[in-house]
Amino acid sequence: MSKNKKPKLKVGVTGGIGSGKTTVCEVFEALGIPVYYADGRAKQLMVSDPRLVAGIKELFGPEAYLPGGTLNRPFIAGEVFNNGAKLQQLNRLVHPAVAEDADRWHQAQENTPYTIKEAALLFESGNSQHLNKMITVFAPVELRIQRVMERDGATKKEVLARMHKQMPEEEKMRLADYVIYNDGQHSLISQVLEIHHALLALTETA
Ligand code: ATP
Repeated sequence: MSKNKKPKLKVGVTGGIGSGKTTVCEVFEALGIPVYYADGRAKQLMVSDPRLVAGIKELFGPEAYLPGGTLNRPFIAGEVFNNGAKLQQLNRLVHPAVAEDADRWHQAQENTPYTIKEAALLFESGNSQHLNKMITVFAPVELRIQRVMERDGATKKEVLARMHKQMPEEEKMRLADYVIYNDGQHSLISQVLEIHHALLALTETA
């Protein structure tokens, strides 16, 4: 690929909790593709984006932040726990701020045929509409529970509670352009390579 070229495609990687999104994205990164990790970036923006900070203070009151400006996570978690409407209002503030930030990040990338945005809720938030191609990472529920319990030291009940807030896997697979099976039976690297080549072919004709 010639140098100083702007990326031609925006690709989304999504999947349920513990499906292996980050693991898959690390393989794309090894191929030189820049990845925007939306969930981690959202946490940063909630303390650094002045408009978002103001919106969160308006929604939850000044207790939303601790002295020094860090987010009062336990307070916010308590406010949205069992309050779907409030959680939705928070998401309505955070998702557009992340979408704008991701867009600026994408525009700033050079010398890459495409970029990747990784997030757990790309379909649920409607942000998949702003992406050219979508990849869903699939893993069986039992394996996801086991992996997250090991990774986070969480209980099975906690993992299930997080899973139940997300769109069913079958729906995400149906909506995706590509599905990666991270079930311990299929090679992740060969699946990523195949999709990478398909995406390169698309950017060559774009
Ligand atoms: P979350 O939605 O919670 O951010 P995720 O979809 O990004 O999760 P990962 O963090 O990539 O999932 O994977 C969950 C855990 O399972 C991690 O500890 C990861 O190292 C492990 N894991 C993922 N895929 C595999 C695999 N193919 N073989 C072994 N371990 C794996």
